[in-house]
Amino acid sequence: MGLEEKLPEGILTTQLETLVNWSRENSTWPLLFGLACCAIEMIATGSARHDISRYGSELFRASPRQADLMIVSGRVSNKMAPVIKRLHDQMSEPKWVIAMGICASAGGPFNNYAIVQGVDKIIPVDVYVPGCPPRPESLLYALDRLRAKQGKETFRTYVDFKAPPLSKQPDEISSLESLRRPQLA
Ligand code: SF4
Repeated sequence: MGLEEKLPEGILTTQLETLVNWSRENSTWPLLFGLACCAIEMIATGSARHDISRYGSELFRASPRQADLMIVSGRVSNKMAPVIKRLHDQMSEPKWVIAMGICASAGGPFNNYAIVQGVDKIIPVDVYVPGCPPRPESLLYALDRLRAKQGKETFRTYVDFKAPPLSKQPDEISSLESLRRPQLA
């Protein structure tokens, strides 16, 4: 019983949110940029051997306005931090971020004055990928986890969205002190 029984054969019914999420899960376009060694693995993920196009994510866009996924692949230097923040700001909503590798996730082996100790100091991160460097399979798994997250989003998610407190404005992150890892007492 229900509407489906009254419709002609070949017509499906679904929720608009489900349809929107389904299309987003299968057409997430990453921003075309890389920061360090992890970027080579990200590039390899786009090769025929690993086939990122099975997720509809083979279209790496050279403009942040046409991308909805930022894959931060490599260490984030203090010099690059304002640039990354600006690129992220220029991406339209909804947008997602994958921190690829231990450097992007937490600074990695570079606990020094030049490297931001995790890109989540400046932009919100949806999925962290461990490894140095993570293999393409790890990035594909991260995309899989992101797709699961996208599938649970609702329109209310975007209405209620508030930037997390760690997120900074580009002019705030020119200060080196603001990006340092808090020291334990
Ligand atoms: S995690 Fe390893 S491979 Fe990736 S940018 Fe850092 S040092 Fe390079």
